[in-house]
Amino acid sequence: MSVTLISNARIFDGVSVISEHGHVLVESGRISQISLREPLSPPADCAVVDASGCTLLPGLIDAHVHVFRDVQLLETAIQHGVTTVLDMHNEREWFKEINAITNQRNDVADVKSCCYGATIKNGWPSAIVRLVSQEQNLEDRISKWPNLTDKKSIEDYIARNRAAGATFTKLMQEDGHTMTLPFPERPVPTPSLEMQKMIVDASHENGMLAVAHALTNHSTLHVLRAGVDGLAHASIEPINEEIIQAFKKNNAFVIPTLVIHASSSGEEQETRDRFASGLQGPEKEHLLGCLHITSEKFSIKSVYEQVSTLKKAGIDILCGTDTSIDLPGTRAGASVHHELWMYVNRCGFTPLEALVSATSKIVDRFGFPDRGLIQEGRLADLVLVAGNPTESIEAIGNIKIVWRNGEAVVKN
Ligand SMILES: [Zn+2]
Repeated sequence: MSVTLISNARIFDGVSVISEHGHVLVESGRISQISLREPLSPPADCAVVDASGCTLLPGLIDAHVHVFRDVQLLETAIQHGVTTVLDMHNEREWFKEINAITNQRNDVADVKSCCYGATIKNGWPSAIVRLVSQEQNLEDRISKWPNLTDKKSIEDYIARNRAAGATFTKLMQEDGHTMTLPFPERPVPTPSLEMQKMIVDASHENGMLAVAHALTNHSTLHVLRAGVDGLAHASIEPINEEIIQAFKKNNAFVIPTLVIHASSSGEEQETRDRFASGLQGPEKEHLLGCLHITSEKFSIKSVYEQVSTLKKAGIDILCGTDTSIDLPGTRAGASVHHELWMYVNRCGFTPLEALVSATSKIVDRFGFPDRGLIQEGRLADLVLVAGNPTESIEAIGNIKIVWRNGEAVVKN
């Protein structure tokens, strides 16, 4: 295993800037030593990186993506400094395949998954997948999704997800209310409060966090009452005190996914243009596209208000985008930069707060003890960028080097 010394870097450790001229030694895939001032002497056969004028950060994390079996998503993410993604509904078999790949290769982002979401018959997301997917044998695939009906089916579902490597649970609370799509049933069937409670309880009994898809205030309150630990989207409706109190009661976090809200409502086209400018071909087209499925009654401005108000109320914000191959307006990695830019420029975050939301805050809330911070003993999943993204969030795009497990897999 290689040894690397990164010298003279501004160090953002995931929480704050701990040094303006610091030194980090990486050995056997982990951060072995940090010196905030005094230079470290390089051991024999050590690669030395002069990081003057650059900032060293923990690898970024996207707390909401859909990987499916799309290895390219993981290859692209890491090019943008995203070293871990959280997969929010996937086939168990596909996650196992993907997990085997991320265990073998450092040049892809790592994946934590919930495997199957807690789905019910004809509910979310089958209602939308049936409308938008061109996939052959789609019904075969959907027929394997959980069809939760009672406590026994829920316990069985959690046990099988765990056996497939799931580390958290994703609940679905979506009646299609905000969308203009021609769903066969309106409202789209949703689980009862009693069922969502049983899913949350079974997750907690198995030591797993429960996060939920919800897009409206009503659905958000429903899953918070069921006891979820976090929301996988911010609500698109104007925020009110009841929502704030419900978040506080659970100490719940929110993963805003402004990127997908903007694609759904067809807003932020100019900023999508900006973040697509470095891309080419199908990648660029994918990011420039948009879903345009939100009813005109709703605007992303309410989402900005939700996020900034929740943040001011002390609710944890975890960076996530809902990037997937099926969702135009998103692109692995580039969408994280876009999401962070919107936190700063639309929701009143400081650049530092935005970066915290994509690093330490996620590992803190999801309980991943091995990454997300520049700390001795943690994995050397690191990003070096030119300039200072803790003061100017645009600098996060100036990627110089990305390390995963101590291996420099991106060099610009
Ligand atoms: Zn999603």
